[in-house]
Amino acid sequence: MTALLITTNGIIIRERPVGENDKYVEILTKDMGIIEVSVKGARKINSKNGSATQLLTYSKICVNKSRDRYILNSSQTLNTFYNIRLDMKKLALTAYLSDLLRFTTPPEEGSENVLRLFLNTLYFLDKGNRDTEQLKIIFELRLMCKIGLMPQLIGCYNCYLPTDKTMYFDPYEGKLICKNCFDRDSLGRCDIIDETMLHTIRFICLSEFEKIFDFKISENCQKKLSPICERYIKIQLNKAFQTLDFYKSI
Ligand SMILES: [Zn+2]
Repeated sequence: MTALLITTNGIIIRERPVGENDKYVEILTKDMGIIEVSVKGARKINSKNGSATQLLTYSKICVNKSRDRYILNSSQTLNTFYNIRLDMKKLALTAYLSDLLRFTTPPEEGSENVLRLFLNTLYFLDKGNRDTEQLKIIFELRLMCKIGLMPQLIGCYNCYLPTDKTMYFDPYEGKLICKNCFDRDSLGRCDIIDETMLHTIRFICLSEFEKIFDFKISENCQKKLSPICERYIKIQLNKAFQTLDFYKSI
């Protein structure tokens, strides 16, 4: 069986050493979802593919595909996001975001939008001119939108009231409820959302992609919004991430 040669761009989201000199890397690619690629001799000092296959490196890669296995043929580094590696908190955040990607990216599908979201998040993390927590919130919400789990944000699901000083968010149904329509029995189930938070969620979910990183979420709003995003993801994906616990412990 002849091997198929494929060229694409992608970012290394996980590495795993094998034997003395080799490793496996998981790459979020533009065209094929996440693929696991074998890199022969990657851990030798003079390896030609060593630097382009390091964690969080964005590279142009050429792989041989044979049956369902990928072997790296050649690679070229496009961006290393070097500063992220120097910061424990940022590195821990990227581990959690990578886990989210690994859990939600369907195999063998074009994932250009999700890749673009991740690369932009890394770009601002690396540059250090946006709050880490704000980048986390943007990534979480926007990723949920991209995978078809955008909450219903038009207004109260019952009476269509667009906004109010206080509204409630039901993470199980992904919907808003106004104070009048809210049933007090659902208090433990729902999160309380004020106007600023609602405006922020709408901006992140509904704006054009080019705009979503160009605004500032106040620290107060970040503090309230972050656990709500986490809870929404946990409930919707039915999955808890240890990498998130680690990020929060730092
Ligand atoms: Zn209502």
